[in-house]
Amino acid sequence: MMMTDANPPPAGSQTGDGIAVRVGQVFKHYGAVKAVDGISFEVARGEVFGLLGPNGAGKTTTVEMLEGLRSPDSGLLEVLGIDVARNPDDLKQRVGVTLQTAELYPKLTVVEVLDLFRSFYKRSLPTRELIDFLDLGERRHAQTRQLSGGQRQRLAVARALVNDPDVIFLDEPTTGLDPAARRALWDLVQKLQGQGKTILLTTHYMEEAEVLCDRLAILDHGRILALGSVDELVNKRFKDRSVRFDQIEALADERLTDLPGVESIKHDDGATLLYTRDVPGTIGGLLDLTEELGVEPGNLGIRRPTLEDLFLDLTGRALRD
Ligand code: ATP
Repeated sequence: MMMTDANPPPAGSQTGDGIAVRVGQVFKHYGAVKAVDGISFEVARGEVFGLLGPNGAGKTTTVEMLEGLRSPDSGLLEVLGIDVARNPDDLKQRVGVTLQTAELYPKLTVVEVLDLFRSFYKRSLPTRELIDFLDLGERRHAQTRQLSGGQRQRLAVARALVNDPDVIFLDEPTTGLDPAARRALWDLVQKLQGQGKTILLTTHYMEEAEVLCDRLAILDHGRILALGSVDELVNKRFKDRSVRFDQIEALADERLTDLPGVESIKHDDGATLLYTRDVPGTIGGLLDLTEELGVEPGNLGIRRPTLEDLFLDLTGRALRD
């Protein structure tokens, strides 16, 4: 007898709609602490989606609920069409997870840790392939306690990949890493996306969110303050561009406010920022002013609004610690 459907969807997956992760009106309170306070979002298959927010915003609680490690007070959590609350075991075979406090078995070697984790799954990738992919070849027989921070984090990702998952959760994957190790991890995330994986990551680094995420949710006090691509979020909120230059003591703010297009002025870390609706007009006026004073505006440039500006605008405080 002929099969009418040559490619039936995998068991447990009714997601013909291209949605890998679905979170609907999820609440999780710890006494008076509203760790997660009614959040909803969806992640499309193949997307890198970020949860960006300061410490305590509710990021870890959210991903751990999606991984089936914590139960919500209420709300819908679905991964690959699987209801997390009802079928946690089905889910575990198809997702990969790095935890923030990953226990790495300090005395086991890289190969031993990966072999151990492979034994937990029905289906797994060969250890050698994982080690090559994560560039851990030279450290394969090192005990995990001897690894650098970056290598340890790459091993945590390798562990998350042993079952060749479709969806990968990375909780603050680059916290505490030096810039080179952080870059290496970013490359890795992009490589995984190139293979068609769906990735949900949490971070409190804005640059990380800007570089990696197709879309992101900005989280604070358990709530989503904004959701979209970086460009959408930033452009929707800010019509103004800013003109930046090294602060000039002799130049009074009142004179700057009078320049064409200027809406507001900010001084930040030795720089002056003029938020303006007329970049050429503002720069022209500024150059006239500085010429009059016999000075030059140092490091003059046009600055595009960033996620940091957005966060500041949404919450009244900086995201940076
Ligand atoms: P971090 O980057 O520090 O991990 P986060 O955004 O991941 O921050 P969560 O760890 O989700 O934040 O914590 C959200 C809030 O819930 C915090 O106020 C935290 O103290 C509280 N919280 C988290 N887990 C528990 C728990 N098991 N019992 C009580 N309160 C908790």
